[in-house]
Amino acid sequence: MGSTCSGCISSEQPLNIQNNPESSTSAVIKEEKEEIEPTISIESLSKAYLIPPKQQRKSLVKNKRLDHITEIHNGKIISQQKSPKEQQLLNNAINSLLILRNIDEPCKQKLIDSMKLYHLESKEIVFEQGRPSECFFIVSSGRLEVLKDENRISILKQGDCFGEQALFDDSPRRNTVRTVEKSFLWVIDRNNYRSVLEYQSALEFKETNDFITSVPIFKSLTDEQLQVLISVLTLQDYEKDQIIFNEGEPGDTLHIVKEGEVNVIINNNILRTMGKGSFYGDQALISRCARTATIKANTSVTVLVIKRDSLVEVFGSGIEDVIFKNIIKTSLEKTTMLKDTSNIQKIQDFIKIIHYSPGDYIIKKGTRKGQKLYIVVKGRLKCGNNYIEAYEIIGESEMKRNSKDKFLENIIADTQSVVAEISKKRLESFMDIKIKKLNIVQEILSILQKVSIFRYLPIERLKLLVKFFSEQAYEIGESIISQGEVGDKLYILKNGTVNIIKNNDIIRTLTTGSFFGERALIYNEPRSASVIASSQVICLILEKSSFKKIVDDKMNNALIKRVELQNDTIGLNDLIPIKILGKGTYGRVYLCADKEKKSLYALKSVTRQKIAAYELYENLNTERSILMKIDHLMIVKLVKTFKDNLRVYFLMEFVRGIDLFDLQSKLSIIPLENTRFYVSCIVIILDFLHKNDIIYRDLKPENMFVDEEGYLKLIDFGSAKVVKGKTYSNLGTPHYMAPEIMTGTGYTCSIDWWSLGIILYEMLEGFVPFGPNEEDPIIIYEKVVGHNLIFYNISDNETKSLIQQFLSIKPGVRNLGSIEKLKSHDFFNKINWESVLCRQTKPKFIPKINDLSQEVSRSFIARKNLMEMIGREEAQEILYRQNSKAAKTFNWDSNF
Ligand code: ADP
Ligand code: MG
Repeated sequence: MGSTCSGCISSEQPLNIQNNPESSTSAVIKEEKEEIEPTISIESLSKAYLIPPKQQRKSLVKNKRLDHITEIHNGKIISQQKSPKEQQLLNNAINSLLILRNIDEPCKQKLIDSMKLYHLESKEIVFEQGRPSECFFIVSSGRLEVLKDENRISILKQGDCFGEQALFDDSPRRNTVRTVEKSFLWVIDRNNYRSVLEYQSALEFKETNDFITSVPIFKSLTDEQLQVLISVLTLQDYEKDQIIFNEGEPGDTLHIVKEGEVNVIINNNILRTMGKGSFYGDQALISRCARTATIKANTSVTVLVIKRDSLVEVFGSGIEDVIFKNIIKTSLEKTTMLKDTSNIQKIQDFIKIIHYSPGDYIIKKGTRKGQKLYIVVKGRLKCGNNYIEAYEIIGESEMKRNSKDKFLENIIADTQSVVAEISKKRLESFMDIKIKKLNIVQEILSILQKVSIFRYLPIERLKLLVKFFSEQAYEIGESIISQGEVGDKLYILKNGTVNIIKNNDIIRTLTTGSFFGERALIYNEPRSASVIASSQVICLILEKSSFKKIVDDKMNNALIKRVELQNDTIGLNDLIPIKILGKGTYGRVYLCADKEKKSLYALKSVTRQKIAAYELYENLNTERSILMKIDHLMIVKLVKTFKDNLRVYFLMEFVRGIDLFDLQSKLSIIPLENTRFYVSCIVIILDFLHKNDIIYRDLKPENMFVDEEGYLKLIDFGSAKVVKGKTYSNLGTPHYMAPEIMTGTGYTCSIDWWSLGIILYEMLEGFVPFGPNEEDPIIIYEKVVGHNLIFYNISDNETKSLIQQFLSIKPGVRNLGSIEKLKSHDFFNKINWESVLCRQTKPKFIPKINDLSQEVSRSFIARKNLMEMIGREEAQEILYRQNSKAAKTFNWDSNF
């Protein structure tokens, strides 16, 4: 499984396909599609199309900060001063590099400002082949030679740059560079480069954010929508006295002043002067209207420009519509009636939006209250002496209590206003429930969400379940459950108290709002205790037969597995090792069995030596805390962690199946329907992670398993991070990394969508889109930035459009602004999201699972020892990096 065999990456030749797009390859795919049968084994599938195995792609290891610089150690620092001519030289040099070209101008300038001039005599080494990369250089004057294996391969002269790989990581130098004559070099090291970029981009990001949210119409945008907005901003410069636009001209842009001042002129009179952070032209975003004033630059000016068309492009509709919906959503979320968002989405789309002029009637005196909900979206309403403002709701509490009251005053528009309204009937049909039953349903739902097995079900399913509950009353002393009987009901205590009695001892007392008996829903087993009413009791009861209507056998099995994994009394000594499952970037993973129950686990071990060498303290703690916090059927479950003098360990769910990398290697191309299913699983996973503020950062086929049920399961959280806003570290696997990670200007969770775009392309084409035959991160990056996206096999438009969307250079637009929009992309038309979540969609491919029972018994008989096996495996490894400093003494592993 996932072995690091030495098959060469270049064995697949996309070029063949490029030359002849109609070649036999497409014929093979057609056959393959027909051949895929629901439970066909991967072996039989792969026979005809066996290609040499690809090599797994390595994640970048976390960069150590440079302690001290060893490159250019014979150089002397001359200065940091730059003449205009030198400025120009540095600018040109930086712009000649694809990888730096896209950085913002202020960032570029800061970089140039931080470069220092070094002087070197003739025949001095700048850096040596094979040594870790540290600095980036631009030749100010002189000449240098580039040597590969001691042979000169080129000459560097004034204005040339070299050594740029150092800006990304410490991978070994591929050449030696040496001066041919006395030379001057501009130099920046990786630490400086990354911190300059980080600081500068954070500043820009914050400033832009502040600017945008100061425009009232953008105030209601969600963080995600703000990201989208930022990604379509452009910058525009104007000279002093230049007219930016004229009164009466048709307008379609909003401007925000970033630097300088502008004058607002009407009828040749300067009305006012506006500075940094002011904006004008906001009406143009909402409707096509003429400019009401002339705007002229009072100094030289830089403005942020937002075009109406680009807003429509990214938001799908006019900005006003987006804003109205946001306000409706925020207002509805505040209500107790509708706080559940799944309904809000639907209501938002269908609610009636009405525009009113001052004086218009919205509600007439004498109308019965609570028959309609009204939300003020814009403007202000008047009701007697009171005003009702935007975001306020009329009629909610009356609707909920089915009030018979009437409005005693007219409600009238006080200004130009917009009001959204929806009738009680319509609401009930959306929610699929009578409003008067809402209270009890919400109560049951909130209790169900506390029952662990229900955590894995989508809220829509839980709502279905609620309908099956029935009520039952018990007298004091009456028995509700008897120990030893096979149970078939879950109970919620609606009213009263009960005692849990085991072998005649009261072990616990439960009060109103508690639940008991939940195991009976998924197991066929005797009750482990009795439950007796200790007061008058009313229970809400769910029968197993009803539960089975919404949870089928597959899902039930998945739930049982999860429940078993909650056993955290297990220790390292209880484990018998079976075999090694895989080697990762840092750790080794072993298949183990519990001595008692014989249930299987995967145990990842990471040596302290490696932890010190790569300074993994924070990584491992993050991996642990994230895995401990999250619980999702499509994500590997962490049971427990351990530590000893030599290592730390992660005891995990054992994922049986095949990883997507192996599947891809065997099939070369994954049929479209299978791909669609896998991509929707990944969408579900990413949605879950991002909602929990987790960026995964290393999405690639190697980290995803097709499990024994044919569903995906994500493993390896070694690169994941909890992030609100932006982060900067250079992590991931080059072929799957979004461009903004490499430049160091900061990124958000939208990088995961980029990786998904790469995966989607790869599944259908058989190779990654950018630099499939390259290994050098810099070259891969250049290909990514070059962004030459060519489709060979992929022919349908919805797939192409989704890939282009995911692989957009603009991070904010990759998920189309919201997960709901993404899920309704045409590519997913055939996907029933709820059914995928409940494991009711039948996967087209189920991996063939090897029977492990013999191996397990052999290991039991041989009384294999876990520590011995781990020790043996580790003895074979040589560390590429040694720890330079003494192992950290601080208590980094206290959580393990
Ligand atoms: P690392 O963090 O060191 O990269 P990974 O978590 O990626 O380690 O694990 C390395 C390999 O071990 C994986 O590629 C996979 O083949 C195997 N593996 C990891 N976790 C599991 C698991 N829970 N079940 C089965 N195999 C696993
Ligand atoms: Mg890994």
